[in-house]
Amino acid sequence: MALYVLKFGGTSVGSVERIQAVAQRVKRYRDQGHQVAVVVSAMSGETNRLVALAKDINEQPMTRELDVLLSTGEQVTIALLSMALMTIGVPATSMTGDQIRMMTDSTHSKARIMDIDEQAVMSVLNGGKVAVIAGFQGRDEQGNITTLGRGGSDTSAVAMAAALKADECRIYTDVDGVYTTDPRVEPNARKMDTITFEEMLELASLGAKVLQIRSVEFAGKYNVPLRVLSSFQDEGEGTLITFEEQDMEAPLVSGIAFNRDEARLSILGVPDQPNVAASVLLPIGKADIDVDMIIQNSVGDNTADFTFTVHRNDYARATEVLEQVSADLGAREVRGNDKIAKISVVGVGMKSHVGVASTMFESLGNEGINIQLISTSEIKISVVVEEKYLELAVRTLHSAFKLEQTA
Ligand code: ADP
Ligand code: ASP
Ligand code: MG
Repeated sequence: MALYVLKFGGTSVGSVERIQAVAQRVKRYRDQGHQVAVVVSAMSGETNRLVALAKDINEQPMTRELDVLLSTGEQVTIALLSMALMTIGVPATSMTGDQIRMMTDSTHSKARIMDIDEQAVMSVLNGGKVAVIAGFQGRDEQGNITTLGRGGSDTSAVAMAAALKADECRIYTDVDGVYTTDPRVEPNARKMDTITFEEMLELASLGAKVLQIRSVEFAGKYNVPLRVLSSFQDEGEGTLITFEEQDMEAPLVSGIAFNRDEARLSILGVPDQPNVAASVLLPIGKADIDVDMIIQNSVGDNTADFTFTVHRNDYARATEVLEQVSADLGAREVRGNDKIAKISVVGVGMKSHVGVASTMFESLGNEGINIQLISTSEIKISVVVEEKYLELAVRTLHSAFKLEQTA
């Protein structure tokens, strides 16, 4: 007998029929004698619908109330799935974030998990029932409802698996594993049987939304065996995230991630003096805007240029702040573009090889795709291009690095 935490995402619980199919799958685990805690998302489209309702009332919804609203999506699913389980003879109990004491900090809409009291769930499991847990939601010390950021049910599941010391955390979704890139953009993408934790972390942080980045961080920190599988298929082992050292044969590039949620901002002709980077970026940070890529360039004419990227939702606010900074510092101009995409190639094999960058730049150049920004780390290279080239760029790189299916 094993203990599994199973997570089902939005599409997997998107209709009554899908919820019934999930119930049947959970029943099969139980019939094999396993203990099961199930973490679910809101039905597909529901969280977006709720966000839109809030924005109809106020373009910048009050974050505490927004969390109260968004958490209702998952609550619908836990009730329906528990009913579906009991209807087929499987005892089950629905549990909210509050009931499982999913304690978080108070950063509404991107709260961090501080602690989980696994006793509540354990006593449901030991009572012979399936615990059906609302993902994405938690509570802070004062009892306010919090949410963990979009895609946060993955993190709820991994955190629960860590707290319960589960044998494996299985993320059931609408693809049958982690692919070399998003199969919706590149139909020739190849499913990987395993991927290293390090690579998965990088892919998730660079935009591959198959797993929320915090779920991967959690799995690494607490050594949770993590697997991605299809809820639409009965066969298949999915993709296992492995913690072993990669062997010498590691491919140079193992995957490609992309992100269309960013915008680029530049401030040009800033008088060049010590502390100038801080005087540009501190006001952005004070406005609670996260910055991703940062590039400073000074070519010896006593001025400096800065370019950085922010989340597209923050573009308008960041532009306002930067206009003010520009006036204060006596800079020449502020420019920006929110129709950009970031594309990244990732691979642990890159550590010991040169040439990945030149292959990347050359193949994009051959397609006439202009690169606006470049940033690199040990195991990834990212470029920013015009958004309209996103699909072409992903497919070009996928074939340049020979990532296609071989069969
Ligand atoms: P869920 O609702 O189950 O949480 P998500 O939509 O959050 O599902 O994540 C699954 C989606 O992630 C897939 O449908 C796929 O389009 C996308 N995706 C992006 N990159 C990858 C990748 N490298 N491998 C697999 N899926 C990916
Ligand atoms: N329902 C939330 C979202 O759509 C959380 C999740 O699905 O993981 O982002
Ligand atoms: Mg998801």
